[in-house]
Amino acid sequence: MPIRVTVWGENVHERKSKAVAEVYPATMHGTIAAALNAEAGITATTVTLQDPEHGMTEARLAQTDVLIWWGHAAHGEVADSVADRVCAAVWAGMGIIFLHSAHFSKPFKRLMGTPCNLSWREAGERERLWVTSRQHPIARGLPDHFEIEHEEMYGEPFGVPEPLETVFISWFQGGEVFRSGLTWRRGAGNIFYFRPGHETYPTYHQPLVQRVIANAVRWAHNPEARIADPTAAPNRPVGRTLEPVTERGPRLHHDGEAGLR
Ligand code: ZN
Repeated sequence: MPIRVTVWGENVHERKSKAVAEVYPATMHGTIAAALNAEAGITATTVTLQDPEHGMTEARLAQTDVLIWWGHAAHGEVADSVADRVCAAVWAGMGIIFLHSAHFSKPFKRLMGTPCNLSWREAGERERLWVTSRQHPIARGLPDHFEIEHEEMYGEPFGVPEPLETVFISWFQGGEVFRSGLTWRRGAGNIFYFRPGHETYPTYHQPLVQRVIANAVRWAHNPEARIADPTAAPNRPVGRTLEPVTERGPRLHHDGEAGLR
């Protein structure tokens, strides 16, 4: 079974900005999906913000092993109910990769629980990514460092929880540094944040960037897990315990009451 990837594209700047449309005539999400479809064992399709339910129906999420999310201009247009649904799918075991300005997307902020803020500058400067975790599957096949000639700068401090692993650190011509490849786990879901990908530069056409994203898809895929209800919080009352338990002390809840939440 191939890994089923859904690439979620905001699809706003591709339609409104001539500069972006020239760099990505096949759209950003289309470009990312095409690169993944050239990989053995991965099938990628796309959905956009403009689709019904932003393309993130329950059925679609159930058929997605790894979701890739790129957004920038329209984070606020993503319905809260859809953001909640995406987070629940991650808790249940769907892998997710957030790219570039998706650091301010609703699903990322909800999964992190922190402001996710950073400093930035749009000057087309050089970004040099250093591999900080040589043995990590996401760094497989990469040199010690590689460069992206034109990128937007993102600088530390990055307002996210301490990651499980830091796979890349970026240096920018202006002098800032940034933790540009970070992993977390939330519930059964593997999360990867990858920094590059400002829409006016041809970053996602670059083979090493495509290599990182394909590696990250394979890493994020968790074929063991798909928890039916990751939010379940059942009551396990006295009388149904594995070993006898004697009830002691006062009690607020009645038998038969719905699970404590
Ligand atoms: Zn940007």
